[in-house]
Amino acid sequence: MPLYKSFYINGAWRTPSDQNNEFPIINPATEEAMGHLTLATQTEVDAAIQAASDAFNAYSQAPLSERIALLKRIRAGYEKRLDDIAQAISTEMGAPISLAKRAQAPLGLAHLDTTLALAESFAFEEQHEGFLLRHEAAGVAALITPWNWPMNQALCKIAPALLAGCTMVYKPSELAPLSAIILAEIIAEANPPKGVFNMIFGQGEYVGPLLSSDPRIDVVSLTGSNRAGVSVSTEAAPTIKRVALELGGKSPNIVLPDCDLEQAIKVSVRGMMNNTGQSCNAPSRLLVPNALLSEAEALIKEQCQALTVGDPQDENTQLGPIANQRQYERVKYYIQLGQDEGATLLIGGTERPKHLSQGFYISPTVFSQVRNDMQIAREEIFGPVLCVIPYDTVEEAIAIANDTHYGLSAYIQGKNEAQLLEVAAQLRAGNVHINGARAQMQAPFGGYKQSGIGREWGVNGLHEFLEKKAVFI
Ligand code: NAD
Repeated sequence: MPLYKSFYINGAWRTPSDQNNEFPIINPATEEAMGHLTLATQTEVDAAIQAASDAFNAYSQAPLSERIALLKRIRAGYEKRLDDIAQAISTEMGAPISLAKRAQAPLGLAHLDTTLALAESFAFEEQHEGFLLRHEAAGVAALITPWNWPMNQALCKIAPALLAGCTMVYKPSELAPLSAIILAEIIAEANPPKGVFNMIFGQGEYVGPLLSSDPRIDVVSLTGSNRAGVSVSTEAAPTIKRVALELGGKSPNIVLPDCDLEQAIKVSVRGMMNNTGQSCNAPSRLLVPNALLSEAEALIKEQCQALTVGDPQDENTQLGPIANQRQYERVKYYIQLGQDEGATLLIGGTERPKHLSQGFYISPTVFSQVRNDMQIAREEIFGPVLCVIPYDTVEEAIAIANDTHYGLSAYIQGKNEAQLLEVAAQLRAGNVHINGARAQMQAPFGGYKQSGIGREWGVNGLHEFLEKKAVFI
């Protein structure tokens, strides 16, 4: 069983201090171990933070042209290894290979491109009346990422942090390590100054607080669960560090009475089931007018039945397995809970699809007649489970949509542009998608309320890693 490289610290791959701290890498399609990682102890965490801290002064003062050249080398290396990365993501977390090639791996490249384009246009110094405004590196950053869109989440932090002049400790999810190791190899080959980029694997509950509380860390940027977000905020508070959080969601999707129902349901089901429902911005609460409910239910069933669940390596697969056992158990728990709460199970369930004998598989599952006070409507399930909530008036739909402690994304389907924009203005969410419109790389990504603090992607993502200095002349 191969032992994978776990730590890139101060410009070199490092052997673990505790050889026994091993963690299996499980293929979610087969439930078999593919190899092992060694997880960090305090020794590796400390070494990585110290390396980033020692490298900060020189790197943050290096000419912009050097930082851009580094990003260009990383971009070239990433592009060369796109196929390896797609393959790694599909293997480590079960994304269908077609999705891994089309979206999962290319999103990392897209963040590098967006950052490089910004590098050409961003004014790091602005002359104002009587003062100079300088945008300077915020310091040493801890970048903590999850397993569901691993390269998207890594590069939307690493690329702007490198451009800003920050040095960093990257802690990817121990549940999706293969793509992160390739990324570290690419960055190592791009030859950054020693200590600028460090990577460690470690169990979040253990190394997370060590990073968040360390006075040498200036910024913590986490994408993950609300539980981890609370821990980062709490641990970071005594040293008043900057915290950027991209957390969970329970995004509403309002089907307005005038919409093209067939098209709206197609977009909605596809959106929900993409990445096997494991996206923080999945449109997981579908709000349907009571008058259209039975027609919508029939269309939803048809759409779900047309989806192919199976081996993520098969080019025709649309839903792979759930990424890991912990998440698989959680999804099955919520599917049982929905039935216990009295929602109508329209399709799917806790059983593995009949044609599959192993792997963490769940069929597309839909509950109808869901009330917004049910736990399945309030808590993030993070799997292919859609909740259909009927409503009578558009005002009621907006109230239901906003009745959540999350506020990451919202979706609206309809025809009347004025009404669509009016509804969009009333939704408390960081991103609103009308009729399936996609997110744009330059637009801010992040949430209201308990979906997080701050915004990633594009220029807003760069600002997360910059301090502002006013120089009065
Ligand atoms: P998770 O919070 O368990 O893990 C995410 C990362 O945080 C991992 O690297 C993990 O090791 C680390 N971590 C865990 N506990 C920590 C702690 N106490 N301190 C610091 N770091 C800690 O989440 P997950 O199961 O890996 O991912 C699923 C969750 O992430 C979902 O709730 C999902 O909505 C959320 N998510 C949000 C976004 C977003 O952009 N808003 C994107 C993807 C995932």
